[in-house]
Amino acid sequence: MLPKVLTIAGSDPSGGAGIQADLKVLAQFGVYGGAAVTALTRQTSAGVLGLFPLPAQWVLEQIRDVLWDLRPAVVKTGMLQQPAVISGLGRLWGDYVREGAAPALVVDPVLSSGTGVNLLVGGGLEAFRDDLLPITTVLTPNVPEAEALSGMPIRGIEDMAAAAEGLLQYGPTWVLLKGGHLPELADDRIVDLLISREERHWIWGKRTPGADLHGTGCTLASALAAGLAHGFSVPEAATKAVEWLRQRIGAPLFVGQGRGVVC
Ligand code: PLP
Repeated sequence: MLPKVLTIAGSDPSGGAGIQADLKVLAQFGVYGGAAVTALTRQTSAGVLGLFPLPAQWVLEQIRDVLWDLRPAVVKTGMLQQPAVISGLGRLWGDYVREGAAPALVVDPVLSSGTGVNLLVGGGLEAFRDDLLPITTVLTPNVPEAEALSGMPIRGIEDMAAAAEGLLQYGPTWVLLKGGHLPELADDRIVDLLISREERHWIWGKRTPGADLHGTGCTLASALAAGLAHGFSVPEAATKAVEWLRQRIGAPLFVGQGRGVVC
């Protein structure tokens, strides 16, 4: 039996981000993927052109249907887009866990696209903090997302640790704070931080100069979800996912007229 992951995310018809990217990554890692769609986008490799949210109730019904049917080992969320979806998922999760299910929850707190289009409507940050972070196994913010959720500015690696600790106060078991948006570190180094209440792992690597790619956040969270579904611990799955993504960033695919992609 293949391990199973359910992704809850937006559709990117250009195939570099969102559910299309998630399903490709899950398949590459030998995981069966289900996908509940939160919103459609009009989008090319150059950026988001439009957003068409599905009614929140419809999104939550899709999730309920497939959660109880597939019984995935891991659920991964991407662009949830509406506070009613975020809070509704929190309630639904409570029902599911009360019945004895114990999937891991990987939350990629998507706020905006790499090209600056807003992908979360008003009230979304509060919904994340109040209803999703308390049940999250691994939260995977980039620097702007960690700043928005924690309310703390991040200018260097000391700030990264402080913001990650601030985010742990909202209840996730682990935070994987991605340092790719930090100002350049010495010697072209790059660092991500994985932190829990007991552990702290700095995952160092070499920056690929000039990389402006599409869909890196979605693919990292999916690779991490796949590793967890295969039974790796959070530190093992996170380190493998980060190292896999860094290799991909070094050899992106240029499939369209815009930015490169990694899957
Ligand atoms: N479209 C969807 C559906 C997404 O989930 C995301 C990001 O998570 C994006 C677009 C933006 O991707 P990028 O930041 O790589 O432009």
